Amino acid sequence: MKPLVIAVDGPAGSGKSSVCRGTARTLGWRYLDTGAMYRAMTWAVLNAGIDPDDAAKVAEFCEVPAITSGVDPARSIIEVDGVDVSAAIREERVTSAVSAVSAVPKVRDLLVELQRTQAREALQLGTGIVVEGRDITTVVLPDAPVKIFLTARPEIRALRRAREDAGSADASSAEVNATQAALERRDHLDSTRAASPLKQTHEAYELDTSDLTLEEVIAEVISRAKAASE
Ligand code: C5P
Repeated sequence: MKPLVIAVDGPAGSGKSSVCRGTARTLGWRYLDTGAMYRAMTWAVLNAGIDPDDAAKVAEFCEVPAITSGVDPARSIIEVDGVDVSAAIREERVTSAVSAVSAVPKVRDLLVELQRTQAREALQLGTGIVVEGRDITTVVLPDAPVKIFLTARPEIRALRRAREDAGSADASSAEVNATQAALERRDHLDSTRAASPLKQTHEAYELDTSDLTLEEVIAEVISRAKAASE
């Protein structure tokens, strides 16, 4: 198949990471998790002792840390100034602060530039790339030939994420409820911010993953990429 960019957006817990990583693995393409980049910046902000809600301070600081993101779907690499933060960026303190940091326009300008560079490099090297986030289809790579908006019913998203966090199939209903509340809070912040909010446009194909297996969703994404490359 002709190498191309597959751009995927969607709310938290819609299955983006599993779907995008799986698609990239199957095609032998690159994979870019832009959420991990915003998380890494948030980790750096917290690590520097800066209040993530202080937008002016965050804007002033954000050029300092060097954020490096890997693009191998088999190995997630995300570094801040050469330090591997792949586990630390999944901690609750980062998750609850990331929406505030990613709402700062200067943070977005910096990271969007890196994201576009990764997409350009992949194509120059003759490989495709699957890029996931919140503003990939609308702002970062609006000319991508394949644009997908992944969704799932809120209770399904909460159940999946709670199971992931619990590391097993039996998350308690209290855990699922708490996860649903946290996801709703983050989606609200991400959809209502002024800079590049999470937004579904008619240009992206909506794919509801609620009643599909991971393999079915990946197959659908790949069939759309095949159609686009013809
Ligand atoms: O994808 P993930 O849930 O790890 O993303 C973490 C956060 O990063 C999101 O809640 C959002 O605030 C921010 N983000 C963003 N733009 C992107 C990707 C993620 O603002 N393209």
